[in-house]
Formats: sequence, structure tokens, C-alpha cells
Amino acid sequence: MPDYQAILDAIREEVRPLLGQGHVADYIPRLAEVPREKFGMAVATLDGRVYRTGDAGEVFSAQSISKVYTLTLALRAVGDRLWQRVGREPSGNAFNSLVQLELENGLPRNPFINAGALVVADVVLEAYADPRATLLAEVRRRADNPGLGDDAAVAASERQNGFRNAALANFIRSFGNLRRPVDEVLDFYFFQCSLAMSCVDLARGFLFLAHGGACPWDGERVLEADQAKRINALMLTCGTYDAAGDFAYHVGMPAKSGVGGGIVGVIPNQLAVAVWSPALNAKGNSLAGSAALELFTAKTGLSIF
Ligand code: GLN
Repeated sequence: MPDYQAILDAIREEVRPLLGQGHVADYIPRLAEVPREKFGMAVATLDGRVYRTGDAGEVFSAQSISKVYTLTLALRAVGDRLWQRVGREPSGNAFNSLVQLELENGLPRNPFINAGALVVADVVLEAYADPRATLLAEVRRRADNPGLGDDAAVAASERQNGFRNAALANFIRSFGNLRRPVDEVLDFYFFQCSLAMSCVDLARGFLFLAHGGACPWDGERVLEADQAKRINALMLTCGTYDAAGDFAYHVGMPAKSGVGGGIVGVIPNQLAVAVWSPALNAKGNSLAGSAALELFTAKTGLSIF
């Protein structure tokens, strides 16, 4: 077994020169306040060990990483019927792009771009009596952290400035692919994006995807094995937006990123690894985080390929 602790500590040293580079997501003003030199990384293995380095215990805004959890809830509720309302192809466009939606009649390319996540949010709102409580309970159970919560200040900050997401939601509604009121969908979407999680939470919280859809410590079935397989496939092809091809080439594992600077990756049957560094590259993925995950697969020899 690789010496994960030594590898994480070495990666932290190697990415240090990158920590000032990139830009923070200032279209959500609250996120622009986070110090850009932060760096944390955690690995959770299926045998119950957790390795960590740097700011791995500090919470940050999960942002689009939450899309994996809402997709989990939607698949559990409606199964494959979800795919009548959202596709499974990489978009090749920015995560908040409007252009494709017009040409494709309000059917978002995949659940991990904002348009697709808004449709998934709509499905979750229709399927569960108390969607916020259901989502929070789900994420807490997955991360094994009952203290995990949302950050209302981040959600409010995004709500005040979320003009693109409002445009997307209204546009999708015009094609009839949202059922709940637009404001309700946006409020839930901003809530899910504001989940405050650490690298340790995220590494633990994605282990079910490395374990065929079952929780590794108590065996609880989160999703069917084939559904977990498909979420991993979607993360590989769409989880890092229009950088997904490059990310697969450099890193070689399914992963989901967020504009809070977090990225979580999965090596099936082995581990989940989470990294956080707030400054982003031009595609909206953590700049140092992407480099750190490339170093991780290079140093451990682990990859899905
Ligand atoms: N809340 C962010 C947005 O809608 C999430 C995007 C992301 O993390 N890529 O723009």
C-alpha cells in the first residue's frame, strides 16, 4: 500500500508555489473573501483510514460538489426517469453557459453543469417533503459528521448576484423543464451550493462511490451498484466541466469540482481523495487542486486506467 501520509505531505510542498496563482470565484462575493493560500488534502480508504495534510479539516463552500448529492437523491427517487429531463453528455461549454440550452430545447447536457443541476434540484423538490432536511441528513450520513451544515451567508451572497443562474432557471422553465416555481428552485440550488464541508468530510462523504454505492462502515445501501457506477462515469466525463477531457488525461479518475476550490476524486474499490485550494484556473477548477490530484495519481500509481 502506498504511504499516503508521506505522499500527501510531499504534494503539499510541491504545490506551494502554485498557491498564489489563479483567481477566486468573485462572482459570489463571499467566496472572494477566502484566503487564496489555503491548501488542504485528505484521503479516506475503504478500510476506514483517513490521511490528511494542511487545511484538510477546515470547512469551505462545497458549491458544485453538492451536485453529486442532489443527483444521488434524484436517482433514488425517480431512477432512470431522470434522463428524460437531463442528458449525460459532456457539454464542452462553461458550467454556467446558456447557449446550448436554446439549441437543445431546454434539455441540459448533463446533471453537473448548472442548467442540469437546476433540473435535478427541481426533481428533488418534487420528490421529497422536506428537501433541505433530506439533503443535509444525507450529506451528514455520508460524511459521518452530524455537525456538518450549510452557510447561509454564502447562499445569500450568491442569491443577490446569481443573475446567470436566474437566467438559466427562467430559460429552462420557458421550455417546461422546471415544474416548481423558479424562485423555489434557485433557493434550493443556492442552499445546496452553500454546504460547508472540509476535505475530510468530502473524502469520507464520497467513499460510497468507491464502494459500489454502499456505505463502507455500516453497509447502508445509498444507491444501487449500477447507479454508483454511472455517477462515477458522469464525474469522469462531466465532473470538471469543459476541462473534463484534460482532467481525465492528467489525473485519470472520476472527480467533481466546485468553485469554492474543492475537488473530490474516487478510485473505485480503494479510496476517495479530496483537495481544497480556493484559487481557480480558467475553467473554474482549483488550480493547485488539479495539480495536486495529478501528483497524487502519479505518486501512488493509482488511476482508473
Ligand atoms: N454556485 C455556483 C454557481 O452556480 C456553483 C458553480 C460551481 O461550483 N462550478 O455558479
